[in-house]
Amino acid sequence: MIADYCIKGNAIYTGLDSGIGEPEESLLYSGCVLINGDRILDVCSDWDAKRYIGENTVVIDAGDRLVMPGFIDAHTHFFSGAIAASEHVCTEIADSTSEEECVRILAAYAGSHPEETRIRGRGWFVTNWGDAPLPTKDSLDEVFPNIPVYLQAADVHSYWLNSAALEECGITKEMAKDNANILLLPNGELQGMLLEIEACKPADEKYHAFTREERLEIYRNFMELSASYGVTSLSEMMPYEYDPKTYERYWELRILEELAGLTARVHIYTKLYDTDDFTTALEWKRSLDSDYVKISGVKGFIDGVAETYTGLLLEPYTDRPDTCGLHVPFRSQRELSHAVTLANQAGLPVRIHCIADGSVRMALNAFEEAYYRTQTILPNTIEHIETIHPDDMERFRSLHVIPSMQPIHLLLDADGKIARVGNERIKWEWPTKTMLDICGTLAIGTDYPVVSLNPFDNIYAAVTRKNYDGSDASHNAWERLSVAEALKGYTSDAAKAYNRGHEIGSLKAGMFADVIILDRNLFSTPEEEIPNCKVEMTMVGGRVVYLSSES
Ligand SMILES: [Zn+2]
Repeated sequence: MIADYCIKGNAIYTGLDSGIGEPEESLLYSGCVLINGDRILDVCSDWDAKRYIGENTVVIDAGDRLVMPGFIDAHTHFFSGAIAASEHVCTEIADSTSEEECVRILAAYAGSHPEETRIRGRGWFVTNWGDAPLPTKDSLDEVFPNIPVYLQAADVHSYWLNSAALEECGITKEMAKDNANILLLPNGELQGMLLEIEACKPADEKYHAFTREERLEIYRNFMELSASYGVTSLSEMMPYEYDPKTYERYWELRILEELAGLTARVHIYTKLYDTDDFTTALEWKRSLDSDYVKISGVKGFIDGVAETYTGLLLEPYTDRPDTCGLHVPFRSQRELSHAVTLANQAGLPVRIHCIADGSVRMALNAFEEAYYRTQTILPNTIEHIETIHPDDMERFRSLHVIPSMQPIHLLLDADGKIARVGNERIKWEWPTKTMLDICGTLAIGTDYPVVSLNPFDNIYAAVTRKNYDGSDASHNAWERLSVAEALKGYTSDAAKAYNRGHEIGSLKAGMFADVIILDRNLFSTPEEEIPNCKVEMTMVGGRVVYLSSES
């Protein structure tokens, strides 16, 4: 068979070797990756490649630059991420250092975007505002008395609204009486702050409300961005309601696939809770699944985030000895174990958001029960694992649970975590190397839009555990990964988390031709230069979807 493309290179990372404990250079291969249609035809020596090369074969010589499988980001929020990358959202507020500054930035954005009927912003974070308390609607109302303002926090776990937005959502102070996550001011008025998914739902709906035309444009632009980063697979990890609106949202990705082709494969996780038998999830899967869009499983939350004390700890917070976590867990152990078992019984892998050691343990208990009852191994994952009790580590391996972590979140946190969990537990903050050594698998992702989608920032964080100025970002530098380990987490291991290790994430005959070429060889790049790395070419399913202007 004749190849459509032949990518020649001296530094081909196939992702087929374990990469653990092996000398890094030995993982690189010199030869050719041959592509026919949407698949890899062969990976072989230059000599063997000759038989696949015809007059129409496009030969690309990568030289010493790294050729590798496309990046598979194991945890992203496609829909909110695409919107965050668009002109419809003010992301500059992420740099604000106070509530006042945040409002000033928004006012400037509103001035230059007169066509917007809602002001959307994301990325503000109260921990970046020194000791400031959570903001209130009042500061927004002064500048925006009429137009609704929706401001998603950096961690996606809360919204800050003005009065016009609260009114548009129909949120009243009476509702706050039954819901502690709708915050009230001391005078009994609404504060404008909504915490955690349930309370945020109406705001989240308005934040995402666009016409179909606008949405398709937003998604198409976001696909271009991900292609420029070499990201060829990502996900929608926010579990939405089982309703027609959600289905429509997913279906639009198929429309875009038909209209323009997608440049990244999107793995969708539907809701773990509030369904008895997962028939809707399975029906949706049957009608939606393609090579590019898939219902890959279900997702649930047990806790929130450590910053707002909604991460569930086994022992109380060091700086709040009165609590192991406010308003958590979101479900009892019994409810959780029941839901996980039902999902696995239906053949759906389960991914659970667990920030702290208490929620990690609950998820493991649930997976243990599901395994005991179903006797099947599915790629269940635990997401984030910002802290873990050492007793629970080995359980990942014995229960075949994949740890799914975001090394770059370490850099976000500064010293916040040590105040929350203290000197002893901090030794186990984001324990990437320990989890990889125990499990043999570690899926790496960004949780975009919580941080940038740029994989090189994430790899830098994984291999250095340092801030960009070279200072230590962690209290456990021994948890650094090698470049090979980070790449494995970003390709073949992430593919396993998406239950697609057999068709994406490595370069070998029969796999989908999701291949990228970088502008250098990451294995010989000094660590401080990793963030400067760029992608030169991105190929998805045998189509070149991105070429850098320099190449
Ligand atoms: Zn997430």
